Amino acid sequence: MTMVQNLTILGSTGSIGVSTLDVIRRHPQRYRVVALCAHSQIDRLFEQCLEFRPRYAVVKDTELAADLKIRLQAAECPTSVEYGPEALVRMASLQEVDTVMAAIVGAAGLSPALAAAVSGKKILLANKEALVMAGPVFMRAVRQNRATLLPIDSEHNAIFQSLPFDYSGDLARSGVQGLLLTASGGPFRSTPREALEYVTPEQACAHPNWVMGRKISVDSATMMNKGLEMIEAHWLFNVPAEKIQVVVHPQSVVHSLVQYVDGSVIAELGNPDMRTPIAHALAYPERIDSGVAPLDLFEIASLSFERPDFGRFPCLALAYRALREGGSSPATLNAANEVAVQAFFDGRTGFSGIPRVIAAVMDRLPSTRLDSLDDVLAADAEARKVAESMIVETIRHE
Ligand code: NAD
Ligand code: MG
Repeated sequence: MTMVQNLTILGSTGSIGVSTLDVIRRHPQRYRVVALCAHSQIDRLFEQCLEFRPRYAVVKDTELAADLKIRLQAAECPTSVEYGPEALVRMASLQEVDTVMAAIVGAAGLSPALAAAVSGKKILLANKEALVMAGPVFMRAVRQNRATLLPIDSEHNAIFQSLPFDYSGDLARSGVQGLLLTASGGPFRSTPREALEYVTPEQACAHPNWVMGRKISVDSATMMNKGLEMIEAHWLFNVPAEKIQVVVHPQSVVHSLVQYVDGSVIAELGNPDMRTPIAHALAYPERIDSGVAPLDLFEIASLSFERPDFGRFPCLALAYRALREGGSSPATLNAANEVAVQAFFDGRTGFSGIPRVIAAVMDRLPSTRLDSLDDVLAADAEARKVAESMIVETIRHE
């Protein structure tokens, strides 16, 4: 018999949050939702509360909380409403919660994800930015508090599934030669380079294979997503950057591979649907139905692989540089990227401005040591400030 798992979902109204609830909906006897945490999409959160009847719901601020409270009361839904960043941390640490889905986008997700680690929870990590920013601090918290960290990012979930069951972070001992991290190449894989200067946010968000939130869609288009994932893989699996090879694979069917010293290569394949890694991590080490259609190899017919083009995608090289520099550099990279992507959405910088801003911020801010969450948050704040000033300067010079 399986015990009921009690869950907090951080980012329940986003793309990953909605897919998570879709898997949970199929297994009401296995999962109970204790807390649903969102930001400002309260219509969707209200519907989720009516369906899943969580004990708590969290929104951005007091006005939205008041609004949601009135609607829940009118619908006789007993969920109590909280708001703000401290409430997210509380929800991630609740005694009655076993598992935390960390699916907030960006740096905002770090503190609650870290709180889940400190409370020794089972963490389903979609929020890669948290690990990129705070790698050493996050992994130490996981180890010291015996938390369980399961990757939701499809590539890392594939690697997790392809590594030995008892993988301990020692590559040599497990006979692993290296990781092959697949990338779709995004919507601009073969767009002429000169044209990249003029692409719009709508074009950047039109991903060929995956339906995702807007920020990660732009990250996929610049390939910063793969850069962040390379750093994520480094921390999750204790693998140096030179043993992680990015492989462009436009069909997104092979979700990543592990190469062994004897020549064996083990991969996980599937349709590009995040409900597969979500269901894997929710049920681990068991298996449950995710609602994903079976893979039809006859329909797919052929799979192809290419080398990444570092010239076309400078963000990839910037991520390798950040990991090489170490310390606060990945946090700087991530913060500068978040600011630059937001500026791209707001029409304050072009698509090609994104890597230019990040490179300029990294040139300006040398790497410093990271020993605590405060160090990480300070590096993040500093990089945001410098990035904002760079964007103002770029506009002036264009
Ligand atoms: P999304 O934009 O669809 O959803 C983001 C969620 O975060 C929303 O629920 C929103 O309410 C919440 N949120 C945003 N800012 C917040 C704040 N300041 N405080 C509290 N909550 C806040 O994003 P997504 O595509 O679901 O991605 C979520 C995370 O998962 C990202 O880190 C992304 O890189 C990662 N991820 C997503 C996919 C995917 O297929 N969508 C795949 C792999 C990894
Ligand atoms: Mg991914």
